[in-house]
Order: sequence, then structure tokens, then C-alpha cells
Amino acid sequence: MSKPILQIALDVPLARLFDYLSAGQHVQVGQRVLVPFGRRNQIGIVMALADSSEFAIEKLKPITQVFSDEVPLDAEVLSLIKFSADYYHYPFGQALLAALPARLRQVAPAVARKQYCYQITGAGQQVDMESLPKRQRVLRMVLQALQNEGAQSEAALDALSGSARKAAKELVSLGYAVTEQVLAVKRVPAILETPQPALNAEQAAAVASITQEVQTFKAWLLHGITGSGKTEVYIRLMQHVLQQQEAHGAAQHSAQVLVLVPEINLTPQLEARFRARLPQYHLVSLHSSLSESERLHNWQLAQSGAAQIIIGTRLSIFTPIPHLKLILIDEEHDSSYKQQDSMRYHARDVALVRAKRLNIPVVMGSATPALESWYNAMGSQVQGVSATPSQTNKYGLLTLKQRAVSAAQLPKIDCIDTTKVNLQHGLTPQLVSALRLRLERKEQSLLFINRRGYSPVLLCTACHWIAPCTRCSSRLVVHLGQKKLRCHHCGHEQRIPHQCPSCGDADLHPTGHGTQRLEQTLASLLSTARIARVDRDSISRKHALVEILDRVHNQEIDILVGTQMLAKGHDFPNLTLVGVIDTDSALHSPDFRASERLFAQLMQVAGRAGRADKAGQVIIQTAFPDHALFNALRSQDYASYANDLLLEREQVQFPPYVFTALLRAEAHDFSLVQQFLQLAFTGARALSQHVVTYDPVRPQMERLKGMERGYILMHAHQRPALQKLLTQLVYQLRSEPIAAKVRWAVDVNPLEF
Ligand code: ADP
Ligand code: ZN
Ligand code: ZN
Repeated sequence: MSKPILQIALDVPLARLFDYLSAGQHVQVGQRVLVPFGRRNQIGIVMALADSSEFAIEKLKPITQVFSDEVPLDAEVLSLIKFSADYYHYPFGQALLAALPARLRQVAPAVARKQYCYQITGAGQQVDMESLPKRQRVLRMVLQALQNEGAQSEAALDALSGSARKAAKELVSLGYAVTEQVLAVKRVPAILETPQPALNAEQAAAVASITQEVQTFKAWLLHGITGSGKTEVYIRLMQHVLQQQEAHGAAQHSAQVLVLVPEINLTPQLEARFRARLPQYHLVSLHSSLSESERLHNWQLAQSGAAQIIIGTRLSIFTPIPHLKLILIDEEHDSSYKQQDSMRYHARDVALVRAKRLNIPVVMGSATPALESWYNAMGSQVQGVSATPSQTNKYGLLTLKQRAVSAAQLPKIDCIDTTKVNLQHGLTPQLVSALRLRLERKEQSLLFINRRGYSPVLLCTACHWIAPCTRCSSRLVVHLGQKKLRCHHCGHEQRIPHQCPSCGDADLHPTGHGTQRLEQTLASLLSTARIARVDRDSISRKHALVEILDRVHNQEIDILVGTQMLAKGHDFPNLTLVGVIDTDSALHSPDFRASERLFAQLMQVAGRAGRADKAGQVIIQTAFPDHALFNALRSQDYASYANDLLLEREQVQFPPYVFTALLRAEAHDFSLVQQFLQLAFTGARALSQHVVTYDPVRPQMERLKGMERGYILMHAHQRPALQKLLTQLVYQLRSEPIAAKVRWAVDVNPLEF
């Protein structure tokens, strides 16, 4: 009865499925199988069962193995990935396999391995040991351990007594303990049920609006400055959705909520807060600093419905979550939601599609929404901006204007004109004395530097030669510690030369203010300061950032120096000064999104100052103190700045007024790139009049990792016209011989050019 032919998705760069014979094995759609492909076996996912094949049956091979113990992928996730692969013009099989935890791409069964640890609840904390019957010796022992020593793993319980696990389960049923996944708990502080604050009027209004329409699809933009209580709104929404489902009775499955977060460094804090406030729900996280087995385990808990709260970075948008009822996207403007290679998807956009298909709400929170989101929320309300009705007010806009804790004042923002003062190693006297003052007051400071253009390069003072990377159009960065020059784009390393290869002069100097040099300068100016540096070099180890942040919390650090890694989400009550050293390169960048990004970054770093009861100060060093961006920043006025930017974008017809896509290409030989792009350009022009196709150009980074690069930009006023063109163009190009000689990819809604 069962159909003999299986259509299987494989991790190969071809836009098609492959037919195999089931050979009498019972196989379902969504199931993981092992099949012979070429000279080896590959993991595949069954997409369909069929009676016939376009190939002769006797040519088809039987599958090698079915992983029948594993739960098949559900239709919703398969179809979401299919949609994304089509939309981003990427081979489906590759998109699908890449969306799975690494363990599921390996040739081994991946059976769930459950391991829990037990934590005390508020009620359990208050239980008087004497009120429990003496004969329940093990129960008392376990409760005592939980009360006095904190969380107990299953292994720890086993060491206590052979029946300790049973006793712990009994404590859970009494409400005195909760179970948590052991792996996820290890790294976060112990659960303490913190009290639930009363919402302020704006928060209450936001929660009420969303809960009123919680049963249907709607996109909400929650716009609120840092500290305005967005996270509190998320917590209430989760409570609402999870409780509501419980009220429907045990027959129904418990609801699930997905929380998307930008980067791993934010997850632990948010995770700890959610755990503390929602201890009765099973929370798992999904991000790249988990080990492969942790990731698989958490993914399976989401897939089985056991995990009710799933908190994860962009890839987690493709996790099977059978009872998904709400999606939250924290810091929705963050560019880490966009994947920059393979399938170049944007997790926020995929989340919108997923929510729409499931008919559930999606809530996007930010202090500085992406202009696209702002436009969708504002539309015609932006003065002078014309938008068609279908594009306007697409999102519900909810605004939190005040900081939630009334004592927390907005920081004072000062721009210091760097052209009017003497800089000491890049620092203005005003900033140095502000730092000194914080040291005297035993308060903390943060020095924020822009990653780009902030690294020291090797300069020949005689002929102005600067050490270049041989593989990229970039300059090598001086690492004095290791006496090396290193390319931050491709990793190329070489020794620091003794003389200039161009003129032979020996007077070579590192110039520019790298974080390392800044750290040295600070140490010499403020000798008692305890300084910590956070950048990609110092944070290469997995948990190094968490360790530094702990030291900051414990007041073991006076000055924190770092890049945008520091801009987000960290709450330091004793931090009262933020210094911003170099922003000017971003003010005048050819990238049209640079000022949007800079504004978001500066709003965010400014939000780091003075979050508790202490007033904060922000000092920005710039040669352009009167720039509109700084004026908007001083008044913390995202809305008017965003509206100005929208007007500009409309005038020049940039996104969100048009839909864009890039066709990127690279090869060792630039003439191949040129030939390929010229062909694509001609093809695109011929295919559509509704899409504007621009001449091939080179990106800012012309050469990267030894590859010469180029792209063509396409834009259209209607998304379907662009999509249609891309589909046809990709199809045409795949059959061109030159297409096999270059590496090329479509980038829909590119963030970077
Ligand atoms: P955001 O996510 O917008 O940065 P948070 O939700 O983190 O803001 O809130 C900032 C601080 O204010 C947190 O310490 C939080 O516990 C507190 N807070 C939030 N809402 C309230 C409220 N309604 N009453 C009292 N404190 C609140
Ligand atoms: Zn020279
Ligand atoms: Zn390089």
C-alpha cells in the first residue's frame, strides 16, 4: 500500500529533490534518512512519497537507513523553509539541512537524552522542615538540599540517595520544586522568583492592545527607549499566552512562545530574567555557543512541545515548534538577524511570514526600530511621506516613552568638538577628566569605539605606505603583543617588517587608536583604574564575555573599553559615564544605512549610562557636533530622526520605498566576474521592465580572501515583480557555463553592499 518512491531533499547545491526507493521500509514525510549519493552516504529529509518517478525505476537506488526513532519534521516547518528557500533563491535541500542542528546532519541516530535538574520554588523555600512527616526521610533530605545548596542535578540526587529522584518529583507535584534542563541551567544564576512589578500606564496599554488580538496574526512594533520596560511587556505577554492555554484544560497541548534575540551575548541575561519570572515554564535556549548535543537536546524539546519558551538567535526561527502561539523579537533592528552567507535570510522577515501563516501575533521591540519597520508602523503619518494605503499602518505601533524606573533619568549627552581641543592619544581633556571623576566617585565608565577604522595600521612615515592585505582590499592590523600584522577580514598573518617594502625606510609606526592602544593610554593617564577590554580579540573564548561582565557587576572593573559588542542590553547600575571616541567615519560613509546604524548604536550605548538611581552622562567626541544625528540623539528623539531619514530615502528611492536585491559574484579572476555580471545584467534588463537593474559595480571591499568581487543591484516598487525576475534570472544563469566558474548568490533585501 505504501508508495514505493521517496522524494528526498539533500544537502547539495541543486534546486531539486532526489528520488529513491523505500524498499519496503515504512517512511513518513519529514523523516531523516540515509541514502547513497555519489560515492558515499548522505543524510536526507523525505519530502514526499510517490507512485512514480520521471526516472526509470530500475535506475533508482534504495535508501540505506531510516531513522525511525526520530520525530519527523512537521509540515509547517518544512513549508516555511521551502518558502524561504524560494524567496531568498537558495537551493531548498541546503536550506533545509542547514536549518537542522549539526547532530542531525551527521550519520547517527539522534535520540533525545533527557536530563533535568531540580530547583526550589518560592513556596518550597518557605516550607518548614518540621511540618513534614519524619518518615519521609528522603523527601526532607532533598528539600533541605534544595533549600540550602540550590539547584540539584539528577546526578547529585543519585549521590544523595537511590530514591532521591522520586522524592524530587514528589516535591515538584507539591509545588515546592521545578525541573529545569540541566545543560541550560548550568550557566545562569539560580532561580529566584522576583516580584511582579505593577505595569505603568504605557506598558499596560501595550499589553492590553496585544492581548486583545492575541488569537490572530498581527505585527506589533513596540517602540521604547532602553529601560522603558519592553522586557516586562514581553514577560506579561508570555504569561498571558501560556496561562490562557493552560486554562483551556489538560486535553490541549501547552502553548509555546519563541523569543528571538540578536546575539549570544544577550541571551544569558534575558534567559535568567525569564527563568526568574516564569519559573513554572520549561525554557530552552538555542544559540551558537551551545555544544552540539545541548543544541540538539533543546531543539528536540522545542519539537516535542515540552519546552514552552524557546529563546534563540536567528536560526531558531526554523525550529519546529508545534504549538507556537506568539513570537517576540527583541532588538528587532539588529543586523545580526540577517544571515550574511549561504541562504541570506532575515529572521525578522521569516518570523513575520511564519506568524502570518500560523495566524498568531509577532511583537517586535526596539528603541531604534529598523526604518523598514518604522515605515510599516507609521506609513502616512510621516509628514510629507507618501505611501500607498496597503503599505501604511501595517504594524500596530505601541510606544513606551518613559523609563520604567522613575528614578532612572535619561543621560545628559555632550558632544565635544575634537577640532577645538588638544587630543591626548585620541582622548579629549573633557573625557579624561570625566573618567577621573568617575574613578573618584567609585563609579564605572564605558568607552565605546567603532569597530571600523579603529584598528592600528602600520604606516611608513617617509612614503606613507600602509601595510596592505595581499588577499583583501584592506589594511593589516598591528598586533603588538604577538608582534604580528593580521587581516581582520581573512585572518592572513605576517611578521611586522623591519623596513618599508616600498621605500626601504626603517621608520615604520603603528598608527590609529586600537582598543589595545587605548587601553595602554588609559592606564598611563589613570594609573589606578582597573580596565577591561572587550573586542573580538579579547573575547575569542566562548565564555570570556560573560566572565568580564560578571567582573563589571562585581565592581572589579572601573573602565570598560570596547566595540559594539558592549552596546546591547547589559544593565550596569553603577555605570554613569559613556564615552564615544570615534564615530565620524560612519557619519560620512557611502553606505546609505550607516547613519541609521550609527544612530541606533549611539542610542543604545547612551542607554547604558545611568540606568539605576544615578544620573548618567554621555560624551561624544566628534568633529561635527552640529550634525542632525547628534541633535536628535541629544533630545533622544528617534521618531523625528527616523522621519527625516524616511524623507531622504523617499527622495532618492532607497528602501523601504523600493524592494532591492543584489546579485553578488566573486572569482579569483576579475574578468570572469565581469563577464558573468554583464551576462546577468543583460538578462535582467531583458526580463523585466518593472525592475530597475543597475550596471555591475564593485563593493567597497573589492577583494576579499583572494576573491575579486562585484555585484549588480536591482530594485522594484513591487515585491512580486522583483521576485519573478529573480526566479527567472537564476534559472537562466544556472544553465550558463560561466556561472560554474564564479561563486555567485542572490541577496534579497541586502543590508550591506
Ligand atoms: P527594556 O527592555 O525596555 O530595556 P526593562 O523591561 O528591562 O526595559 O525595564 C528596565 C528596568 O525597569 C528593569 O530593571 C525592570 O525590572 C524595571 N521595570 C520594568 N517595568 C517596571 C514597572 N512597571 N515597575 C517597576 N519596574 C519596572
Ligand atoms: Zn616607505
Ligand atoms: Zn585579508
